[in-house]
Amino acid sequence: MKVLLINAGSSSLKYQLLDMKTEKLVAKGNCEKIGLKDPVIVYKHNGQTQEFEGAKNHEEAISRVLQILTNKEYGVLKSLDEIDAVGHRVLHGGEVYTNSVLITPKVMKELEKLVPLGPLHMPANIAGIKACQAVMNVPHVAIFDTAFHATMPEKAYLYPIKLEDAKKFKIRKYGFHGSSHKFITGEMSKILGKPVGKLNLIIAHLGNGSSITAVENGKSVDTTMGLTPLQGLMMGTRSGDVDPTVVQYLCEKKNMAVDSVISYLNKQCGLMGVSGFSSDNRELTQKAQEGDERCRLALDMLAYSIKKHIASYLPVVKKPDAIVFTGGIGENSVETREEVLEGFEHLGIILDKKKNKNFKRGEVQLISSAKSNVKIYVVPTDEELLMARDTKNIVKNLKNSK
Ligand code: AMP
Repeated sequence: MKVLLINAGSSSLKYQLLDMKTEKLVAKGNCEKIGLKDPVIVYKHNGQTQEFEGAKNHEEAISRVLQILTNKEYGVLKSLDEIDAVGHRVLHGGEVYTNSVLITPKVMKELEKLVPLGPLHMPANIAGIKACQAVMNVPHVAIFDTAFHATMPEKAYLYPIKLEDAKKFKIRKYGFHGSSHKFITGEMSKILGKPVGKLNLIIAHLGNGSSITAVENGKSVDTTMGLTPLQGLMMGTRSGDVDPTVVQYLCEKKNMAVDSVISYLNKQCGLMGVSGFSSDNRELTQKAQEGDERCRLALDMLAYSIKKHIASYLPVVKKPDAIVFTGGIGENSVETREEVLEGFEHLGIILDKKKNKNFKRGEVQLISSAKSNVKIYVVPTDEELLMARDTKNIVKNLKNSK
């Protein structure tokens, strides 16, 4: 069984083709600058990268991708019939979707209603689904970034604003990176040999976008991102938590409209804004080691932000089985992990600095000391595999129920 995964943005469409017998990637790529000047389609397979002329719209983009995948010379499929299902990454499932679902006309109507909760991403996600449905007559599945967090209790997901307004306008914490947090929970069940339903974890997904999730008995009970992915940790270009009054203040001082300030907090702040140099952890680490003070400050603020949020979840999950680091920074940055875990020792959470330093990239690693009361792991995430598995399972159940 082969599954095509689609992650559609406003001017891009990322695709991955997975063989679900082996769970291996067959090909992947990105349609970049859709509808813009010089659009391009990147295609990667068997260690090669090729570029093709891009597309004017999403429908053309997916048609071109399918032509590439089935091309006699460089394609990886004999015919389109080899694709059994398509999985679509969808940003927001609101309060309606607590799991991945088969996309039906009713689901499409619900997705349209969710646009106000994700005005930047949802129209593109919907356009991607429509474009694929127009050219591929197979089951389509929606996988939501928010779904894993649907189990959060009211006391965690509500903001302390007027309850009537919170309920009427559905203003609440939804949480994101659900596929990654769910994938890591599944991996930790295998690693620790404990059923998912008995697992207590604190998962730090640290990348360009970052969130930490408290998992109790296998379920998300709190997470740092909120109504949108802007809340919580300091990130690559997102500020994370700020006093809401900062928005009003910036509007006045910089003569900006509210939506411009929100865009500024999403795109120009975080590591980028503080360092004035880069949003990239690796580049900042290098520069800080060379003595750049703003880059050092940005990294110190990042580690402090992660440290505080991990600590805040310690009593939430009662006794954690493990603290897990994942995502580009979590999996790779020795320095960030060491700085984050400094100060936890009196709580019996002890990093083995040697193991942390000598870790092998891309592998599951136990990096806590033998004396630590809580295990600390580095676990590579694979959101795409989780999405492909969800797609496969939904299609399998569909066939079984026929
Ligand atoms: P992601 O969004 O998960 O792809 O993560 C991107 C972030 O991971 C960027 O800030 C990168 O600098 C960081 N990253 C990737 N590799 C390394 C590395 N070897 N050391 C430190 N940071 C890294």
